[in-house]
Amino acid sequence: MKITDVRACQPVTPTSPDDWRTSIGQILVAVDTDTGVTGYGVGGGGFAGIHVVRTVLRDLLLGKDPSHIESLWQEMFDSTLAYGQKGLVLMAISGVDLALWDLRGRAENTSVCDLLGGTKLNRLPTYITVWDNDAMDEVAASPHQGFKLHLGGQVPEEDGSTEKFADRVADQLRRARSAIGPDRELMADAWMKWNLEETQAVIARVSDLNLSWLEEPLPVHDEAGYAELVQNSPVPIAGGEHEYTSAGFRRLAEQRLHTVLQPDVCWLGGMTELIRVYEIAAEFGLRVCPHRGAELWSLPAIAALDNGQCDPLAESGRPWMSWVAGQPLIEDGFVDVPDRPGFGVEIDEAAITAYPTPSYDEWRK
Ligand SMILES: [Mg+2]
Repeated sequence: MKITDVRACQPVTPTSPDDWRTSIGQILVAVDTDTGVTGYGVGGGGFAGIHVVRTVLRDLLLGKDPSHIESLWQEMFDSTLAYGQKGLVLMAISGVDLALWDLRGRAENTSVCDLLGGTKLNRLPTYITVWDNDAMDEVAASPHQGFKLHLGGQVPEEDGSTEKFADRVADQLRRARSAIGPDRELMADAWMKWNLEETQAVIARVSDLNLSWLEEPLPVHDEAGYAELVQNSPVPIAGGEHEYTSAGFRRLAEQRLHTVLQPDVCWLGGMTELIRVYEIAAEFGLRVCPHRGAELWSLPAIAALDNGQCDPLAESGRPWMSWVAGQPLIEDGFVDVPDRPGFGVEIDEAAITAYPTPSYDEWRK
């Protein structure tokens, strides 16, 4: 089997959010072969990611045997070293890598989950993310296994002092715990908006709330801050949705910067790298809860590779990406792992033409 084309586009639906999640947003990658089988993947990087796929990665892959995924991944990484290694280029490589895994499954008429050794769990428990306490009150009766309060929109400076800020956040988390009860998992996400002092002040006030994790409290580059936090925090510290490659996750593990790893398979480098992150997590005894884990791209890894330290949790996905069909629904707090060939994704290329990739001039409007 040989690769005959590598294509990329960014379908933009009417409900796509008006922020970086659209302008630098998720791209569809298709890898065509001379057998007529096409594999599909989703990566990121928007217009820039499409450019990387259509130029460098396509040129590198044309005529190659798509079954050597690991060596093709290394070739893609090495050929983009000068401007890649992290960020948009790895998002683009992720889409190609996932398309190659989808292709392998379709060509062998087997699911990616079976390619990874088969599922240990057919149904995975899910958690839901909400942005304020009123929303938490509304979803508290839903059957999700976990609930995450997103605090990233809150600016500590508005409270006037670190103590007042920490008191307010602690009150919000206390109210959330009381809404969902003592038995289900509660998490908080600060989306890199706090400093070390603010984070420690919050943690000191919520150690009795049995938080499963505090996510990305500090900017991702504050390694000294994360090292100090993890050493002293009774609350597990989570992160990784903005980390790239398994080498990046190995550094997080070796330097003990996080206790819960949250790789995004559509960003960090694809399934090839997510498999390695699970190996690193097993080596260091860390929990893995993939970012956007309930999307079909991560489900095979969660089902087949979770180290069994604790229940896997899959985060609810991105509903505006309606062009990715075949996505299993979250029902009664669980999501099923697809057993169709590849990732079980269904792409209607004719329908996607209704959501064409905007031109550069259209982005500027
Ligand atoms: Mg997050």
